[in-house]
Amino acid sequence: MDWADELASRVSGPQVVNDSKTPSGTVHVGSLRGPVILDVIARALRANGRETTLLYGVDDMDPMDAQALLTPDAIDREMGRPLANVPDPAGDCHTSYARHFAGVFIDVFAGLGINPDRYYWMSDIYPTGAMDPYIRLALDRAALVREIYRRVANVQHPDTWHPVGVVCPTCGKVGTTIVTDWDGDRVFFECRADLVTWARGCGSSGWISPFGGAAKLPWNLEWAAQWSLFGVTIEPGGKDLSTAGGSRDRSDAIAREVFEREPPLNVPYEFLNIGGKKMSTSKGRGAAAHTIAEVIPPEQLRFLFLRPRPNQAIEFDPDGTDAVPRLFDEFDRFAAATAGREVKGEIPPGYDATFRYSLLDPNADLMAEAWAFRPAFAHLALLVQIPGVDVAARIEAEKGSQLNERERAILVERVAAARAWLEAYAPDRARLAVRHDGLPPEIDALEADQRAFLAALVAALATDPPTGGDAWQSAIFAAATATDLPPGRAFAALYLAFLGRTNGPRAGWLLASLEPGFVLGRLREAAEASATKVGGSA
Ligand SMILES: [Zn+2]
Repeated sequence: MDWADELASRVSGPQVVNDSKTPSGTVHVGSLRGPVILDVIARALRANGRETTLLYGVDDMDPMDAQALLTPDAIDREMGRPLANVPDPAGDCHTSYARHFAGVFIDVFAGLGINPDRYYWMSDIYPTGAMDPYIRLALDRAALVREIYRRVANVQHPDTWHPVGVVCPTCGKVGTTIVTDWDGDRVFFECRADLVTWARGCGSSGWISPFGGAAKLPWNLEWAAQWSLFGVTIEPGGKDLSTAGGSRDRSDAIAREVFEREPPLNVPYEFLNIGGKKMSTSKGRGAAAHTIAEVIPPEQLRFLFLRPRPNQAIEFDPDGTDAVPRLFDEFDRFAAATAGREVKGEIPPGYDATFRYSLLDPNADLMAEAWAFRPAFAHLALLVQIPGVDVAARIEAEKGSQLNERERAILVERVAAARAWLEAYAPDRARLAVRHDGLPPEIDALEADQRAFLAALVAALATDPPTGGDAWQSAIFAAATATDLPPGRAFAALYLAFLGRTNGPRAGWLLASLEPGFVLGRLREAAEASATKVGGSA
């Protein structure tokens, strides 16, 4: 995490941190990495005493280019129009397609503790005339812009191409128009049927003023103009934009040469890969941000993005795996280390900063947060599946004292997360159906060495009853070692006795979740029943 503090210490003067997004559809969880990084940069700057403004823009003058969410009759009419002018497909009181999808995204931001000082909408900015000076500069320097595209990106525009897109006064589309001339006041535009494959222009053409919202700059120029307009000093960018000759290089060159301003500092960041696939909004793969946010609480979601450095890709596959429980365990380990407690395994330097920046409230009491009692996620995921268990009472017993208000809130949040995880992602082995109605018939599969292990475990319980999942886990290992049984077969014996199958969740936590008298009785029954059966057949 030292990267954010290091960045904050090497800049001077007031800072404007910016990012913007095209609200083209459902936003996938990977897209949240940028905003989380943005927020941490702003927090680090403020912690270093820098006056900081955090901006987030919605590029809603971009053309509608994804037909997946349109009804068939709307495709021909809406494709190519500015997203700000396309109706909201959900019909839930937003004024446009852009407002609907940006609204979902902004809600997720708020839930993650990301609160920009200001959101700006390009559909609001253009009509004010604030972009007009940049439109004029771009048109006056059209030859230079074409030369930059050729030099930086090897993109060859025709000599008549001008860097502005008119909103067609006839059909309202912006994705279908091209400007071929500029007389200092007006541009000559054509709305072409075949300019792009995904939208069809109406064939209008003529001279028109490009100012006051009648036209927009193409993306690379709009980006550079935003930097000038808002005085942006730092803007992180996804790796896809930061490649050689890519969007960032083009906008950097346009900022310097056309708008004559040094571009902001870049913080390139890698992607979040879900299940080995790159998350992509346009391909509709992966998980929607608001769906994942229902399973992973905000602080763990921030932690997921912040644990690796920005330039490291994140592999995350929650479906059918223990990735979510492991994420909670890692978070808890960082909390414990921050509290100064001893933790198992290696912990990277800067762990306390990672923990601090993962917290929802930038002004939270770090030590109080680090010391707060957090029940193990995997344990909760078992407890919530056992009927009749008073989860809060069990967790207080585990802590050894009453939970404070913050700890109760953490418990409530984790219980909800555990239930959501079981419903959405958990592997079958995490789902629990304890056979309370007597010894499962599958117990016949037990072999002699497994019976000996069960007997040893029962004997050990009488002298040293374990409390808590870790203690149970140790007792299981000890009994397995004493009877020379490989741990895998020891666990299988326990799963057979309680679940009637040979796999299951962490056995120590399973037994800790159950009523102690029931556990002891069942273990004794299993050891004896097997012995009787073998005795009878021998
Ligand atoms: Zn048109």
